[in-house]
Amino acid sequence: MTGPIAQNLDALKKAQQLDSEIHHTHILLEEIPAQRAQLKSELELEKVHLHELEKSLKDIQLKQKEKEIELMQKETQIKKLDGQLSQVKTNKEYAALQQEIASLKADNSLLEEGIIHIMDEVDAAKEETRKEKEKFSSITTSFQDRDNEMAGQEKTLQERLAVLKKQREESVAELPPELGELYSRIALKKQGLALAVVNGEVCAACQMKLRPQLINEIRLGEQIIVCENCSRILYFEN
Ligand SMILES: [Zn+2]
Repeated sequence: MTGPIAQNLDALKKAQQLDSEIHHTHILLEEIPAQRAQLKSELELEKVHLHELEKSLKDIQLKQKEKEIELMQKETQIKKLDGQLSQVKTNKEYAALQQEIASLKADNSLLEEGIIHIMDEVDAAKEETRKEKEKFSSITTSFQDRDNEMAGQEKTLQERLAVLKKQREESVAELPPELGELYSRIALKKQGLALAVVNGEVCAACQMKLRPQLINEIRLGEQIIVCENCSRILYFEN
């Protein structure tokens, strides 16, 4: 086979191989920012969860403090009333004071029970917070490792891309300018695959059956023939 395609087939195939790899490298590169963002948002969620637990612990501790203050105030009140007992003049007043003291003591008994219960809650919340802190710390470490790894991959891919693009330019420069331009235009539209081998009577890229006239023209090789369906440059394997 002679003609523009046959004479330049090696350079065309080389360019296509490079363009295809460039295309796949682009896809890999485009995925990395989303993967890094996903990792970051997982870490953020964990952070929010930890903050919620810490806040909930503080709330329970505050509740404990409030009940302890209330208990102290009532105990002070009981002492004060106890002191008044010796000063009252009538039995009725005495009975009323005693009633008031008994009522306060009953309140305090409930408060003490409540405080014991809250102390259990505080212990449980502290333990949960401690575990979540440990988890968060280990997740942060692995996040850093994975993020650094992805940043490294990104750099490697960018360097590879630069090499591929240079090699690709060199391959295309070996082609006659008109063919080089046509090839580049199709490669850009077809994700790096501008060539299609003829397999029997069909275009191997899109599986379209080719007209006999077209097949003859490809065999003659005098001009560049593109697939009428997928627009790729058609060639026969020698
Ligand atoms: Zn085709």
